[in-house]
Amino acid sequence: MLRYDEAREKVVSLVSRHRTLPDQETVSLEHSLGRILAEPITADRDYPPFARATRDGFAVRAADVAHVPAVLKLVGEVKPGERFTGSVGRGECVEIMTGASLPAGADAVVMIENTELEGKLIRVKLSVRSGENVVLQGSEARKGARLLAPGHRLGPVEFSLLAQVGKGEVKVYRRPRVAILTTGHEVVEVGTQPNPMQIRNSNLCSLAAQVTLSGAEPVLLGNVPDEAEALRERIKCGLEEELLVVSGGVSVGKYDLVKEVLRGLNAEFFFDAVAMRPGRPTVFACCGERFVFGLPGNPVSTLVTFELFVAPAIQLLAGGVAEPLCLLKAKLSQPVRTSPGLTYFLPARLEGSADEVTVRAVPWQGGGDVVALTKSNCFLVVPETQTELAAGSWLNVLLPWS
Ligand code: AMP
Ligand code: MG
Repeated sequence: MLRYDEAREKVVSLVSRHRTLPDQETVSLEHSLGRILAEPITADRDYPPFARATRDGFAVRAADVAHVPAVLKLVGEVKPGERFTGSVGRGECVEIMTGASLPAGADAVVMIENTELEGKLIRVKLSVRSGENVVLQGSEARKGARLLAPGHRLGPVEFSLLAQVGKGEVKVYRRPRVAILTTGHEVVEVGTQPNPMQIRNSNLCSLAAQVTLSGAEPVLLGNVPDEAEALRERIKCGLEEELLVVSGGVSVGKYDLVKEVLRGLNAEFFFDAVAMRPGRPTVFACCGERFVFGLPGNPVSTLVTFELFVAPAIQLLAGGVAEPLCLLKAKLSQPVRTSPGLTYFLPARLEGSADEVTVRAVPWQGGGDVVALTKSNCFLVVPETQTELAAGSWLNVLLPWS
């Protein structure tokens, strides 16, 4: 049985190898949040386009203030958006504002806080190095330099950059369509009143949210009862889309029919179990051209296995790169106990202050307990080899949906 990291690696390598990039479309910058860039972005001019002051103060020759206090003659001012037409001669200075262009002759800016006005003269109380409080022209990027490559996901930082280089419209990849199908006799629609033995279809909703966050368009195929023929027809519908995600029916119960139906459709299985809890019976297969995931139906299992295995597949199918898992190490504030042989993903809470951050598992009832998940903000990743961990041990923590 594969470890979770091996299974994830398998997904990434197979999808990378067999994906076809989606078509491209041009959208306005403000409508491109979360989309995957389909064109390279280059600097349209030097950044900054001129030597830029980073402080309010006085543009000086650093050599003139090597010994302080030094008294300089004020010969003018320069505001952002303007050019100083003269130049700064020896023993002179020009008043300058943050964001303004450094006048010719000057090579540094003295902060206003380190000066005093003496009539028309400026007394400088602190020396500056040549280049201090100035960002040189082209030092952030030279005109023509490649700033972003295709495949980059657009967030607020990219918005700032694209706006700076004048990209009011941007070429992005079309979002892939991901079919979501849930299974189970007992599963009813969210808007209906379940009888005492039924449960509402929470996986359809959570999977749609995860598909959207991963950069794809969810196509909701609803729920089918555990009957081979009905399942087969609905799975065939799902295979028309670019990826199919099925929840439930992948375990070893009498009515877990998803694998059998996929087999009947000539699926090739890459794995049908992962050494983890929750999420052990996770399936990854392909049917013809299409990749298919079968996720265990317990809501926490579905959420976790999607994050580990389906999200990177969607990121790749969307034209992007598979983002690495967001793992960090934290110190346990309470002991943890698991069984050997499986990596556990336990709902947990990172808490504390900047001085000391600790993590503790949240009490939970297993893979169906979404209530516990709402009280957590991360998962403890307990390796298969470490079944008893004392308080004070350092352990990997997974930050999901980030
Ligand atoms: P299964 O993976 O089909 O064996 O289901 C495991 C558990 O998850 C059972 O308790 C199911 O009732 C529950 N479950 C299955 N599908 C869903 C769903 N779509 N929404 C919420 N719970 C589900
Ligand atoms: Mg079921």
